[in-house]
Amino acid sequence: MSDPYGAGHGPERTAAAFAAVYGGPPAGVWAAPGRVNLIGEHTDYNDGFVMPLALPHTTLAAAAPRADGRLRLHSGGVPEAGVIELRIAELAPTAAPRGAAARWATYPAGVAWAMREAGLAVGGADLHLDSTVPTGAGLSSSAALEVATAAALNDLYELGLAPQRLARLCQRAENAFVGVPCGIMDQTASACCTEGHALFLDTRLLTRRQVPFDLAAQGLRLLVVDTRVRHELADGAYANRRASCETAARALGVRALRDIPYVQLKSALADLGEDDRLRRRVRHVVTENRRVEEAVALLDVGEVRAVGPLLTAGHASCRDDFEVSCPELDLVVESANAAGALGARMTGAGFGGSAIVLVTEADAERIGQVVRDAFAAAGYRAPRVFPTLPSPGARRLA
Ligand code: ADP
Ligand code: MG
Repeated sequence: MSDPYGAGHGPERTAAAFAAVYGGPPAGVWAAPGRVNLIGEHTDYNDGFVMPLALPHTTLAAAAPRADGRLRLHSGGVPEAGVIELRIAELAPTAAPRGAAARWATYPAGVAWAMREAGLAVGGADLHLDSTVPTGAGLSSSAALEVATAAALNDLYELGLAPQRLARLCQRAENAFVGVPCGIMDQTASACCTEGHALFLDTRLLTRRQVPFDLAAQGLRLLVVDTRVRHELADGAYANRRASCETAARALGVRALRDIPYVQLKSALADLGEDDRLRRRVRHVVTENRRVEEAVALLDVGEVRAVGPLLTAGHASCRDDFEVSCPELDLVVESANAAGALGARMTGAGFGGSAIVLVTEADAERIGQVVRDAFAAAGYRAPRVFPTLPSPGARRLA
């Protein structure tokens, strides 16, 4: 199976690339990972529960401070954009870097902007970024980019910000500067996850707990399947689902659907009357929050394999009630489960992107091949399949 780290990816190489771009060594190198969400999909904007884990794939930021207030940005993934130069004092959402090639720079520039807006004493910097997180695959390369940048600036300017605070600044950057209405999950996962654990996050209270998810010790693996498709409806459908949830919460007289406990689901559905679609949207969110709590309870007592059926049930709910799956994601789940996987589901917003499959270590290779064969037989583009273990969150490497 493919090397999840990417050949040669590491702090030395990123520091050398920094030196080649800027003509001197960086002050340090920071890493921030991509993530998958184990369970709890489309719950974050309903103030609900999520449970992501960090991938071994990381974005590395090599950085050095600058005394002149300039922010210079370069990405190994977008060499054609060259070095993009901005001024911290002039950063504004309305004056974000323009042009398709420079769009990537809105993410790190947004982080510096969010810090400045929060009254933090952030100054100029040179940054070079390298990443092994697949982009646009629902694995949160955007959060990895933001959090790597934030971790670097936090240390360079001795801001002393805790990981959760960095995550909130990064979310603000993505919402207000880049213009993507994401929840708090991705950035929190990248900033706060720890090795061998999934992160149980209450997206309203922002309380979080590391839940043991030691797949290696149990002889298990999580296969990530990047379908390499992203369907046209994705953005519109995301906004539409958010709006439906807000409509339902208003109709039910609650602040957010998180406030409907599982035991009140039946009466809530009855209160919603004839609107079958709205009822199914609500049923997904309420049962999905319940599945997160069930998964936490199982993992707390070491019943890792028993999480498998919850994943598959979560997928059915995303597919049938929330209608955010697609044929490629469904095929991953069906083919993997038919081949003996412990459970599988789409992960991330849906309409393409990635799925996760819980497998035994012994079955990982075979089931990965079954999924690839199923894609070939269906005439789909070959997916990227790789086994993962819960990995560390953001950290300084050098
Ligand atoms: P996801 O977060 O699921 O990967 P997004 O659409 O939210 O998908 O973010 C992908 C975008 O993030 C890319 O199109 C690019 O602009 C930016 N990006 C992520 N990683 C890098 C990187 N290492 N270098 C430059 N841009 C990056
Ligand atoms: Mg993203």
